[in-house]
Amino acid sequence: MIYSQKPEMEWAVHVCEMVGDKIAAQKGFPVAHYNPFDYHNVEGRRTLYLQFIEVDETDTNEIFKFVSKYGFLGFKHDTEKVSLEPYKEERKKYSDHLASLRRTPESDGFIKELVTAISWRDVELIEDIRQEILEMRTIVNIVHEIQSGTEISLGPVFDLYSRAIPFDSTSIEEIQHEFDDQALRFFAKSAVELRIDTKLKGVHPHLGSNKDGNRFSGTWRVPTLLSAMYLMLYTDIVGSKMFRKCRNVTCNMYFPIYGNDARKVYCSNNCARLQAQREYRQRKKRDEI
Ligand SMILES: [Zn+2]
Repeated sequence: MIYSQKPEMEWAVHVCEMVGDKIAAQKGFPVAHYNPFDYHNVEGRRTLYLQFIEVDETDTNEIFKFVSKYGFLGFKHDTEKVSLEPYKEERKKYSDHLASLRRTPESDGFIKELVTAISWRDVELIEDIRQEILEMRTIVNIVHEIQSGTEISLGPVFDLYSRAIPFDSTSIEEIQHEFDDQALRFFAKSAVELRIDTKLKGVHPHLGSNKDGNRFSGTWRVPTLLSAMYLMLYTDIVGSKMFRKCRNVTCNMYFPIYGNDARKVYCSNNCARLQAQREYRQRKKRDEI
């Protein structure tokens, strides 16, 4: 275990609403708090980052449900996020509003109220969240291919790597011939390293001390929900925990693989049965043609 102590973290969960292509916190509702690390390797609870990558990214409602339950991913804290436009937009709206108010001298109290009401209104683009689901899922899949020694597919690795370092107009077809299995494995590993390192920026150890007593204690500072989920994934990878996607095409579940059951490809017997029936039907259909 990398963190001997569960990271202390309080993450806000807002009552949300869908506003066009964004999810926004609704004003005037109480905000709940929880520790995301209560959803990591805890009996009876599904690990949070697995819940995240199991979200059907094409279904806006599912994304909305995740954010309503576990909070925003925390893009507004991420200074490297390219698409910060919606937040800048919100902030600009707020400062414009404030500027216009100053011209008509109202009470300070009213302005203060506005500051809390508008400036801290959380908002995230659904498309940004969708991209994060896709990226994290790709990482989990590639990590499984690396750890289990199974064949690595160049497409997703290429896609992941390009998120860090854009290739100039190079297509997969152009570079495919340059990769033998060993080179591909190396490429895959460095892509995973690069991306996870980036996602963990801002996570750092924190020295804590009690008011009373003369001892210090170590804990972690984790700035966003997204970085929290990546810290969970990081500790699982370092601890050689493996997750594989269920082979049933209609099932999004990821399940853990332990040492010997490398042949396990379904999350449940039910999924094994459903997929077998599906393949049987497809074979039969083909034979009839
Ligand atoms: Zn399944």
